Amino acid sequence: MEELLNMVISYVESATQDEYDEIAQTIRNDLVFRKYEKDIEKYIRYIPNTSEKCRACKGSYPAQAVLISLNTGESYSLDLFERGIDPEDYQGNTLLTFGYDEISQTSIHISKSPGENKGLAEIERGNGIVSIHRMKKLFCDDCIKAMLDTVENQIIGEVVICDTKTNTFYPLEDESKAQIEDYALETEYKDGNYEIAVKSVNETE
Ligand SMILES: [Zn+2]
Repeated sequence: MEELLNMVISYVESATQDEYDEIAQTIRNDLVFRKYEKDIEKYIRYIPNTSEKCRACKGSYPAQAVLISLNTGESYSLDLFERGIDPEDYQGNTLLTFGYDEISQTSIHISKSPGENKGLAEIERGNGIVSIHRMKKLFCDDCIKAMLDTVENQIIGEVVICDTKTNTFYPLEDESKAQIEDYALETEYKDGNYEIAVKSVNETE
C-alpha cells in the first residue's frame, strides 16, 4: 500500500488536496464497478499493473472463440471442435464445462454436442461486480482498456467474448450475433441471465 500511495503522490503532485484525497480514497479500497462508465477511467491509471503475462493477449487457447472472465482471467472455449482433438473423437459426445467467479458470483455453464453441431453457454449472474485491482493482476493495460471499452454501458461487465486470433473483444448483448472463424454466436438475454448459442457455419443440418 505504501508503494501505491507513493505512486499516487508522484502522479498527482499537481492535484489539489481535495482531488488527491479523493483519488487516494478511491484506490485504497478495491476499485470496483457494476456497470462500467468512462468516469472510472481516471482512477485506473493510478493502480499499478502487476500482471506478468497477460491472460488475454499472451494466453494460449485451444479455441478461437472464448469467454473470458474479467475477475479471474479464466477462459472458456466456445468452439465446438477444439484444436488438437480429432473431430471423430467427438462423435456422440456431450462436453460440459463449468466456471465460477466469486467476486461477481457469476457462473458459467457450457454444454457442447459437436456431433449435432450445437453448443450453449449459459451465464448466470450474481452481483455483477468487477474488480479493477483484480484485472490489473491478470491483464496488460492495453487489454484492460479494450475490455472495458467493450463493456462500457453494457448490462453485463464481468464476462466478454474474445476472438483469440485477432484479440478482439465482444460484449454479451441481447439479440447480438457475432461470427468468429467458423462459428456463429448468438447471444440472448433471458430472465436476468445470458445464453450464447454456438453453431458451426460450415455444417448443414
Ligand atoms: Zn494483453
